[in-house]
Amino acid sequence: MTYCDAHNHLAAPALAPHVSAILPALTAAGVTHCVVNGTEEADWPTVAALAASVPAHHPALHLTPSYGLHPWDTGNRSPAWLETLRHYLVADPRAAVGEIGLDRWMLDRARPDDPRLAGLRRAPLDEQRDLFQTQLALAVALDRPATIHCIDAFGLLLETLQAGPLPPRGFLLHAYSGSVELVAPFAALGAYFSFNGAYLAPRHARLRALYQTIPLERLLIETDAPAMLAPAAHAPFALAAAPALNHPANLAATYAALATLCEVPLATLTAQVAANYRRLFLGA
Ligand SMILES: [Zn+2]
Repeated sequence: MTYCDAHNHLAAPALAPHVSAILPALTAAGVTHCVVNGTEEADWPTVAALAASVPAHHPALHLTPSYGLHPWDTGNRSPAWLETLRHYLVADPRAAVGEIGLDRWMLDRARPDDPRLAGLRRAPLDEQRDLFQTQLALAVALDRPATIHCIDAFGLLLETLQAGPLPPRGFLLHAYSGSVELVAPFAALGAYFSFNGAYLAPRHARLRALYQTIPLERLLIETDAPAMLAPAAHAPFALAAAPALNHPANLAATYAALATLCEVPLATLTAQVAANYRRLFLGA
């Protein structure tokens, strides 16, 4: 089997002590492709370093670097952020744009002391939308796919995307959690939707039903590692020193669970997702 992780964060500081053990584990688990997302200016150099070193040391793993300013990090950007982002994208023609997007949860529902948001200025939605459109325009100008994060802002996201222009190759709505009704209008604009193993938790029955409606030719699968840990039964890999983090080799278990959920043979799902991944991220 060849598994493709449409969205992870191998360059996250929390994974730095573990990356040298994770990379061979991915190959052993059959993971052949992954998109490594940067979320802020501070992690873009780490994404670039991984993209430079993995081909020589782990030739069985095809890594697509992705650079972007995540909505959580929008408020803390430096004045040079756009110039720096353009530099990383132009320097590597394989690179995608992401993770970018819109997040109303951070403003309306997140607890004031949520440790994941500590030290961040929570940018209002207008500012997030501005930055999102700027980065989307960069993806269009450079003909790169884009990876989009959206929580609690799907109406605004659809409106923003409909205003265009959009990346010709399409875009990924990572860990999509919007309504069933919005799948068709997003798909018409070129959306792919990636299923996350965390959606296998009992409380996410709505999301499992949602993913049963997504056209197979627009379906991708992701870990978002080190975030979004799946329930224990679907997370056979753990980082001994950091058990709360999601090991990206858990991807294979998510494929198996999704094949059962969608009533598709695992080999069929794997081949279809690989074709979708190649079309979106590799332009092939
Ligand atoms: Zn992410």
